[in-house]
Amino acid sequence: MSVAAPPRQCLNCDAGTPHRSQLGGLLRRCVGCGLNWTVPDPAVAPPRYEADYFCGGGYDDYFLAGPRRFEAGRRLRWLSSVVRPSVLVEAGCAGGYFLEAARGAGFTVTGVEVSRVAAEFAVRELGVPVRQGYFERVASSLRADVVCAFHVLEHVDDPRVFLRAAWETLTPGGWLALEVPNIASAAADRLGHDWPGLQPDYHPWHFTRESLARLLTGAGFQIVQQDTAVFRFYMPAGYRLRHAHRLLPRDWIDLRSSRLTHPRRGDLLRAIARKPHDPRSG
Ligand SMILES: [Zn+2]
Repeated sequence: MSVAAPPRQCLNCDAGTPHRSQLGGLLRRCVGCGLNWTVPDPAVAPPRYEADYFCGGGYDDYFLAGPRRFEAGRRLRWLSSVVRPSVLVEAGCAGGYFLEAARGAGFTVTGVEVSRVAAEFAVRELGVPVRQGYFERVASSLRADVVCAFHVLEHVDDPRVFLRAAWETLTPGGWLALEVPNIASAAADRLGHDWPGLQPDYHPWHFTRESLARLLTGAGFQIVQQDTAVFRFYMPAGYRLRHAHRLLPRDWIDLRSSRLTHPRRGDLLRAIARKPHDPRSG
């Protein structure tokens, strides 16, 4: 997709709503709703989700079966607390481990993945069906009861276009499940430029609980569930125990809790939203 021009106003709010410079000008933050966007650096080329992303640059672990299957199981349990097995599309399915888990639980699955390397891995190694391409472009040929997008919305050119594509894919009463980095997390406040979720070369958007909710309701969805999880949530219990001396104090200082989820201050923001049965009444 083309490189997005720097937004002159918040996607969620009126044109007159002011926004403030954050992190020395790296981000703009809407005063009205808390949506943040990265100010594009003209010297930096747009991300390529091939060589740069899934094959190097610290993302090799997208293909590691152990951690990815644990993460997929966690996400599936969260989704299954609300959604019954049905037809599911995952946008940005990477190596396909969540699709594998969902299929195992009785969902009929299809993935969409922009990276050819990742899409081919999912098909070849896990045997899950994946279409290579941008979700926004192939959505009109898909139909689903559930659309999932984990760590996708912060990458897209325009989140409203992505949500419109999800809406068109979903049957009436269908579900949308999202996870994104939480820029209102305690860790983002504490770490500033060193916050691992920042990734200005890859993340044009940053969400808070409020700004994500506003974006979803603006697109016609009804919010069913929203919370946050700490990074430890996706680490297997053995790993959490071995690294407790390093991980727990940080979360305790940030959240005053050893729990793995938190209403708003954890590292990862999660939402389940619904397309109303009758959108006109929504
Ligand atoms: Zn706003």
